[in-house]
Amino acid sequence: MPSTSSSSKPTSVVTGGAGFLGSHLTDRLLAEGHRVIAIDDLITGNVANIEHLAGNPDFRFICHDVTDYIFIPGEVRYVWHFASPASPIDYLNFPIPTLKVGSLGTHNSLGLAKEKGAAFLLASTSECYGDPLVHPQSEDYWGNVNPIGPRGVYDEAKRFSEAITMAYHRYHKLDTKIVRIFNTYGPRMRLQDGRVVPAIISQALAGAPLTVFGDGSQTRSFCYVSDLIDGIYRLMMHSYHEPVNIGNPREMTILQFAEHIQRIVGSESQIVFKPLPVDDPKVRQPDITRARTLLGWEPRVDFEEGIRLTIDFFRTKMSV
Ligand code: NAD
Ligand code: UDP
Repeated sequence: MPSTSSSSKPTSVVTGGAGFLGSHLTDRLLAEGHRVIAIDDLITGNVANIEHLAGNPDFRFICHDVTDYIFIPGEVRYVWHFASPASPIDYLNFPIPTLKVGSLGTHNSLGLAKEKGAAFLLASTSECYGDPLVHPQSEDYWGNVNPIGPRGVYDEAKRFSEAITMAYHRYHKLDTKIVRIFNTYGPRMRLQDGRVVPAIISQALAGAPLTVFGDGSQTRSFCYVSDLIDGIYRLMMHSYHEPVNIGNPREMTILQFAEHIQRIVGSESQIVFKPLPVDDPKVRQPDITRARTLLGWEPRVDFEEGIRLTIDFFRTKMSV
């Protein structure tokens, strides 16, 4: 049973709370009446994502690397483990910190949840499916991952995270949840994080060539951030322990994605083709039957609307 808080508000700890998703999750938790402690070492995050929360008595930020022991005084009801480099460029630049946060960082975060009797949610990833041989991907597919390729540092760290989370559930009876997040986009992504959404939008806004890797026939399915956070919140409040995909099933090729951005921005930029990164998955689309059935969850923000909101954010960023 989760411990009862002395204040009427439950306390949530969010690792990676200064990142793109962690900061949106923090906003949602505060809106739901939680007290939030965000822990982040800022390796890929930015305090700008949480600066609007300065002075909020229900919010606290701790600058800390979760691969080191995590000490939090007092009661904690929920631990949301989001710390990890997430963009391919980031985890290629930081291979060892990525492996460490997925292994040691997940171990410490689980240890915190166990100590406090808190529920625990792991931010896992569609990368657990690797370059999938099953399409769309449902949670019972075990994946096609190259453990020794450059992406292996992220994929295998997350697969280890899932394994240790299930072990804490089975052995320590911890109340754990695992969300497999598919490509998510929205405001607060870093302009330079290398992921296709900020890359192509910032290129289109700057009038620079749009870089499509390979021949652009690989597919992705993009989910707007508020939809993702809603699915994750519902999952934490549910008692289901096996992985649940959260993502938007609308699939497109990367070339189509670049053409959409060209049209929406009204950009004259040309598309240029660059080499495809090693082990880049050829297809990716979530089967969200489990999320629909268990959580009553469905993405609500369509691609055009979400992209407009994201473009507005990047316009503001690029004009300062
Ligand atoms: P992000 O880089 O914006 O956020 C990750 C945060 O974790 C950053 O603020 C970073 O500084 C922090 N961090 C990393 N290592 C840390 C450590 N050792 N100690 C403390 N803080 C640390 O990335 P994001 O897109 O917000 O991703 C958040 C989580 O969601 C990650 O675990 C990622 O694997 C997962 N995820 C994201 C997506 C997506 O599309 N955004 C897809 C699949 C999975
Ligand atoms: N990509 C691209 N141009 C870019 C950045 C990425 O064509 O400037 C491609 C990348 O090769 C991949 C897809 O877009 O096929 C999505 O890449 P992203 O880095 O966003 O995340 P991934 O889904 O690969 O984790």
